[in-house]
Amino acid sequence: MELVEKDLRYIWHPYTQMKDTEELPPILIERAEGIKLYGANGRVYYDTIASWWCNVHGHCHPRIKEAIKSQVDQLDHILLAGFTHKPAILLAEKLISIAPKSLSKVFFSDNGSTSVETALKLSFQYWHNLGRVEKKRFLSLEYGYHGDTLGAMAVSDLNPFNKCFEWLFYGGYKASAPYCYRCPVGKIRKTCNIECIEFIEHIVKARADEICGIILEPLVFGAGGMIVYPKEYLEKVDEIALKYNLHLILDEVATGFGRTGKMFATEYTHIQPDFLCLSKGITGGTLPLGATLTTEKIYSAFYDDYSKQKTFYHGHTYTANPISTAASLASLQVFEEEETLKRCAKIIPIFHERLERFRELSLVGDVRYIGMLGGFELVKDKKTKEPFSLSERIGYKVYKEGLKRGLILRPLGDVIYLFPPLCIKEEELTEILETIYSILLSFSLQSNQAI
Ligand SMILES: *Cc1c(COP(=O)(O)O)cnc(C)c1O
Repeated sequence: MELVEKDLRYIWHPYTQMKDTEELPPILIERAEGIKLYGANGRVYYDTIASWWCNVHGHCHPRIKEAIKSQVDQLDHILLAGFTHKPAILLAEKLISIAPKSLSKVFFSDNGSTSVETALKLSFQYWHNLGRVEKKRFLSLEYGYHGDTLGAMAVSDLNPFNKCFEWLFYGGYKASAPYCYRCPVGKIRKTCNIECIEFIEHIVKARADEICGIILEPLVFGAGGMIVYPKEYLEKVDEIALKYNLHLILDEVATGFGRTGKMFATEYTHIQPDFLCLSKGITGGTLPLGATLTTEKIYSAFYDDYSKQKTFYHGHTYTANPISTAASLASLQVFEEEETLKRCAKIIPIFHERLERFRELSLVGDVRYIGMLGGFELVKDKKTKEPFSLSERIGYKVYKEGLKRGLILRPLGDVIYLFPPLCIKEEELTEILETIYSILLSFSLQSNQAI
């Protein structure tokens, strides 16, 4: 039997309406190198979205491959309770050295959702350990995304895709997001004063006593549609968290490890968060790993005699897997050896300038970017910003056209985006952008004719 036939017989794919595979079966990839994926069909695809936002230095990077091979010869996996190992120790030390100064402890797990669950549970139990048992809720934002496990979903945006689970979500508070293209208070960024902070202020003023902390993604709502927002908003959230003594939980699962042009998006500010959630790019995109960084203050609230019952009873089997942590150390070494961020700093202005050109397309309502990330929000009517209907599936149509032309433009609803491995070269970026432009141009012409 052909492999893809077997795939469809046995595998249920993530985020996939399996009926769509009748028309578009999964593409079998045989190998990958740099920013290219090689299909069994003989075709080559640019990994335009870094294989779900995790690839950093290109696929099968020799340095990371070497680290994985030598680690697997030595120690494959051990439990992290009562035992430890060198790559986990060195990685924890390294992460603390590059993270915001407030953070001094690393709690490992194995993916992004678990790094968020860990932060939420630590924040919750912190207050519990202090006897503040009335603190039970979290404040989060519309358009936010923190993972697909129940705890993480509960603090994510409530939308048509997860609404059916609403009953399972513990109660929390959700504030309108700083979505500048569709400003919730009807302002324009150039002249606004971040008035949209009022949504958070309003909830906190009334409810601070029951709130453990505020969770959000710094500077970009990733899965919410690559919505880039002003750093002043984040600074105001931080001020509110400090003023009302709430934890600030920053989810850098997507933005961490160079994506925004700095190692962490938080570095665009002087914010010292209580928690930093990391995953995706942490191993350069090779193996699963999660990490939740926190402060001495949080750690101390759990540190006591065993009988006081303040222990954090939480963990995952593959916590700090030695091979994953070794891959992560190697990836961080590549950042230094290849001066990844310095190289990106040269490409970023060119990238942004070329993205601006997309504004002239009638299909493109908004162009958003920060660092090595860019997105286009496609709209049916540019003047009224009217979105396409769900049945039009414009994002999916662009995706299919992209595949024909060797690009992976897996959309977020009607948002098409670029999230390339950071090692991308200027020529490759130019080629990719020109192809996307021509695809969007052809759809713009089609929709004009339809009108
Ligand atoms: C992807 C993502 C997560 C979830 O990570 P998984 O490894 O897919 O569980 C959490 N937060 C943000 C911001 C993400 O982008």
